[in-house]
Amino acid sequence: MLKSRWMKLILLGGALAVLAGVLVWRYSGGGQSASRSNDLIREYLLFPERRPALSNQARSQCAGAPFILPSAGLIGLMYGDTAAPYTAARRHTGIDLFGDGRAGTVPVYAVFDGWLTRLPEWRSTVIIRHDDPLRPGRTIWTYYTHMASRDGSQSYVSDQFPRGTTERFVRQGELLGYQGEFAGGGAPIAMHLHFSITLSGADGQFLNEAVLENTLDPSPYFGLRLRLEDEPQPRPLTCA
Ligand SMILES: [Zn+2]
Repeated sequence: MLKSRWMKLILLGGALAVLAGVLVWRYSGGGQSASRSNDLIREYLLFPERRPALSNQARSQCAGAPFILPSAGLIGLMYGDTAAPYTAARRHTGIDLFGDGRAGTVPVYAVFDGWLTRLPEWRSTVIIRHDDPLRPGRTIWTYYTHMASRDGSQSYVSDQFPRGTTERFVRQGELLGYQGEFAGGGAPIAMHLHFSITLSGADGQFLNEAVLENTLDPSPYFGLRLRLEDEPQPRPLTCA
């Protein structure tokens, strides 16, 4: 009698421990490499007074790195990030820069000399073709998006680059547009710039930048550690 009561207690205790373990596992990233990027972004959005102390500067450049930073703000989501809305199975393909200010007011600049294209259907996006400064002879592309109002009715891409623009030469540091909130009809997003580096396909055209394998780790191009790491780095990021 006593023995079976002890057995029940042990079994119940064991079951509770397993349940607690599952809950902790789920809410710490579901067994993926845990990312705390969402916490950082939340802090930045909720406490405007903390934003300047968390922000990297637009057009800043690390010694020996070819690219300048395309916009000002918190580098929130990292390359390969698994934080929402991304997962370990669908990682973030670039970096997200959350600016401080109203949508349509925080400038976005070309990171390097190149040739700009804006497809006719692109409300909020431009792409620039470059000769890869780290591997001369290879063509890479830099991709900039979310440059429109939340509902997409107002584009924040510079008037210099109307839809249908192809192969317009731009210089490093040239104004491309302004950070916006347009998410292509998906879930609402906070104002930011999504930036990625994309490879070319066999036809010489840019590949789909939403696929991680088609993109490059931007870290060596900026001289910053932009790939997701286990321990989040303090912000603003400093030259590696
Ligand atoms: Zn992004």
